[in-house]
Amino acid sequence: MKLSFFRTFKELAGNTSILAVFFVFICTITLILYLRVSTLGKNDDPGFITRNPDEYREIDAIPILLYHDIDGHGPYSITKEQLRKHFEFFRLNNIDVISLKELIRLQDENRSPENKSVAITVDDGYISAYTKILPLMQEFDYPVTLFIYTNFIFDKSDKHMTWAMLKEMEKYGFDIQSHTVSHADLVKLVEKGNTESLNSIEYELTQSKKIIEDKLDKEVTLLAFPYGYYTPKLLDMARNAGYIKTFSTDYGANISLHSNYCYRRHHIKKDFNETNLKKIIQMR
Ligand SMILES: [Zn+2]
Repeated sequence: MKLSFFRTFKELAGNTSILAVFFVFICTITLILYLRVSTLGKNDDPGFITRNPDEYREIDAIPILLYHDIDGHGPYSITKEQLRKHFEFFRLNNIDVISLKELIRLQDENRSPENKSVAITVDDGYISAYTKILPLMQEFDYPVTLFIYTNFIFDKSDKHMTWAMLKEMEKYGFDIQSHTVSHADLVKLVEKGNTESLNSIEYELTQSKKIIEDKLDKEVTLLAFPYGYYTPKLLDMARNAGYIKTFSTDYGANISLHSNYCYRRHHIKKDFNETNLKKIIQMR
């Protein structure tokens, strides 16, 4: 049986026209596979593709930290003194604090950072970003991205963040980006799935971008999902609204050698200490 198979194969292989057909078949399969892979990220991107930690070095894993209010109240709020300790921890351990734009550049160029790095983000737009984070940023010369929802920003206020404060913060290394208009639960709206709810999502995404661009005279290209949750449909809608990257609260680091559309972030919690920070920094 085996012998006759090999003899048949030999006869076939001797026939050049069969070989040519076989060659064309292999080329077609290769082309189909290539096209499938190269279109990933345009339409079928799940937002984040994880990588095996054996494929990259620790320096290539870049965590993004997520802070909220700096008043020490609530489960996700720390004090200014704690934040200073975090900043001192980065400085003492030779950890570079890089901007989100630098992280995106590294990923787009498929490059490793020079040192172990982290990026800092702050969500919502509490006035403490102006009164407490801004002075520390200036002292340490660290860049921070602030994701605001525009209904939370006022023209005039003593208690809340104003557009004038944001304009000043932009001059000192804050990058103001979008966290929607009203902090609506976009996943719930997607699940409803009717025309009205889909229109609401579109409004939240496009209008917040437009308001910040008009008020601060800048380009807004980054979106942090309210509550950190998203679906493939939301990723598509964010892309259509003109966002080049989105941010979730999925657990883990981002790999500088691989560009995803949706980045992971670490929620910083009330009683986070140096041990928690170390764990995050070492995470791959
Ligand atoms: Zn938020």
